[in-house]
Amino acid sequence: MPELPEVETVRRGLQAQVVGRRITRVEVGRERTVRRTSRQAVIDGLTGATIVCVNRRGKYLLCPLDTGEELMMHLRMSGRLLVAAAGTPRPAHTHVVMHLAGEPAQELWFVDPRTFGEVVVFDPVNVAVELPELAKMGVDPIADGLSRAQFAGLLRSRSRQIKALLLDQHVIAGIGNIYCDESLHLAGVRWDRPSDVVTPREITRLHAAIMSVLGEAIEAGGSTLADTQYVGVDGEAGWFQLHHRVYDRAGQRCLTCGKADIVKVAVAGRGTHFCPRCQK
Ligand SMILES: [Zn+2]
Repeated sequence: MPELPEVETVRRGLQAQVVGRRITRVEVGRERTVRRTSRQAVIDGLTGATIVCVNRRGKYLLCPLDTGEELMMHLRMSGRLLVAAAGTPRPAHTHVVMHLAGEPAQELWFVDPRTFGEVVVFDPVNVAVELPELAKMGVDPIADGLSRAQFAGLLRSRSRQIKALLLDQHVIAGIGNIYCDESLHLAGVRWDRPSDVVTPREITRLHAAIMSVLGEAIEAGGSTLADTQYVGVDGEAGWFQLHHRVYDRAGQRCLTCGKADIVKVAVAGRGTHFCPRCQK
């Protein structure tokens, strides 16, 4: 599933390629992708509109339009956004196509085999009603910034397993399974520690680890895993997976201590990867 660095990479690609371009025509195939409203609402909301800029909050891509409305796109499990030359054969599962004015003639495709992803056009004035989860979203460490003091407050005011807390989008937006496991490893903190007993020194390490893991992953264009599902808008894979120290390395020697093997346990249906020696 794309997490903050992958969605940020897509955002940067869209910012470079679609801003200032008018959408001349819209095709919606699979209705499930536009389930929040309707096929006609998305077609009417986008046709003739110009994308003013591309923002991101957590895993949500938000594009203000010159009509005053906003386009929201969420990739969920398997969504991809691709910019391609007009007329290029489309991959299977291309559910929404936006034709872009200007030269060269291009199309923006929303491709999504598993169809959990979404495309919505909404009025930002009514965000609390139309996209209630956006209004309740926690702090985005990259888009909003996250200070060490603010992070300490988020951990100390709750008594929860640290991994569950870091994955809770209402607390911190955008960190998913990969970057959570990598950040906890870099900080030397075990996934099952209660958030309110983590020491000040560990908080400092964990805060620094989250910021550096996210920052480096964005610079690497995100992580493209063995399923090759995630790519940027130009179809290019990311390469941060080459820097993973624990994620998807179960049974392999820890790259940090060189003395223990990475352990994988299932927590709430997700794989959690850690080094039993480095993480306390
Ligand atoms: Zn280790």
